[in-house]
Amino acid sequence: MTDPILIVGAGQAGIKAAETLRQKGYDGDLVLFGDEAFLPYQRPPLSKAYLKGEMDEERLFLRPEAYFETASVELRTRTSVASIDPAARSIALSNGTRMPYSSLLLATGTRARQIPLEGATLDGVFSLRTMADVAAIRETLAGAENVVILGGGYIGMEFAAVAAGLGKTVTVIEACHRVMERSVAPEISTYFQKLHRAHGVTLRLEQKVERLTGDTTVTGVALGDGSQIPADLVLLAVGAVPVTGLAENAGLAVGNGIAVDACARTSTPGIYAAGDCTEFPSARYGRTIRLESVQNAIDQARIAAGSMLGETTAYDPVPWFWSDQYDAKLQIAGLSSGYDRTELEGDYDEGRFALKYFLGDRLLAADTVNAPREHMMARKTLAQTGPDSNGTREAAA
Ligand code: FAD
Repeated sequence: MTDPILIVGAGQAGIKAAETLRQKGYDGDLVLFGDEAFLPYQRPPLSKAYLKGEMDEERLFLRPEAYFETASVELRTRTSVASIDPAARSIALSNGTRMPYSSLLLATGTRARQIPLEGATLDGVFSLRTMADVAAIRETLAGAENVVILGGGYIGMEFAAVAAGLGKTVTVIEACHRVMERSVAPEISTYFQKLHRAHGVTLRLEQKVERLTGDTTVTGVALGDGSQIPADLVLLAVGAVPVTGLAENAGLAVGNGIAVDACARTSTPGIYAAGDCTEFPSARYGRTIRLESVQNAIDQARIAAGSMLGETTAYDPVPWFWSDQYDAKLQIAGLSSGYDRTELEGDYDEGRFALKYFLGDRLLAADTVNAPREHMMARKTLAQTGPDSNGTREAAA
């Protein structure tokens, strides 16, 4: 009997890989390990509809419980994989149990970045990555008056929109001179800054946080310019880091993520990786990239599943991403870095427009606001454009 295929990480990539293996006819044993307590779930609503209380837990789950039995996927939640022994082709769980594998997929995702900041461990200070985080945040958020968010990226700005919608006094502190700076052009930042301000959110740009204050529970945020902002809840929204410890300890090549080739193969035979945790070569962008997006998790997991079954399809996506803030749906197609000009189409003031990024005549990316058709058209155009050797850099999607 052949050893099972094991998947570490029961998130968006892990479940897609399991499903794809079955769809492609793999009928051997298949085990999906997840260290969280829940069925595999989607994360985007954690800073959107689910955080607002407008979405049930059931709808967060990527597959109903019955799926796992029907598809013969052995799901082991609350189970952490502690190490890999590539020579023996086996893994060890945190309780010491060893299991052999025929192929192993690492889909370990990212975790919220922690920063060395005085007061970061006070009660009332949170990160937002998991359902457990949301449960803890909700309790404090209900009674909070002053909400302070450190970081004006997507998650920070989405959280600000939800908190403002709940009537909280919201302040966003951002080190850069505009929000979402890493991934969008100034026109898009300006649009969202105006939108947030119109909803009463205070944006403190180009600000450094000195420390969080309070005895056991956070009461305020001290800024570098000497100002103090009262806070009952602080969200640390300062990015995510790939979970690569298992791979590193097993001697796999790791850079800004687990290094894989275009077929999602790691540097060690029999071990594959997909999703947020990987860094992969993109022929389209002429360099290696790491993406944090649902698109990437799903599409790369499909490729990884195929590779485990002997296929050699290369992964080279047009990345896409979205963010919901109030009634504005921002959709991003392509990676815009390296552009030399932008073109605006549609009605900026009415909040229905597309901003296209070009390098010379070449379309690199398009950000659309409440313009889903234009988003889809941009994705189609970008897919037809093919690989590029301009060395453009990825967005922070
Ligand atoms: P994950 O979903 O992170 O899953 C990895 C899983 O592996 C986790 O459950 C982790 O606990 C588990 N794991 C790790 N190590 C081990 C181990 N040793 N043993 C067992 N289990 C382990 N993307 C978008 O495209 N659009 C959005 O609007 C958007 N919004 C987001 C909002 C929030 C609040 C967050 C947190 C993310 C958002 N994202 C969004 C990003 C998107 O959710 C991720 O890109 C996607 O979940 C990546 O899937 P993944 O399977 O690679 O990793």
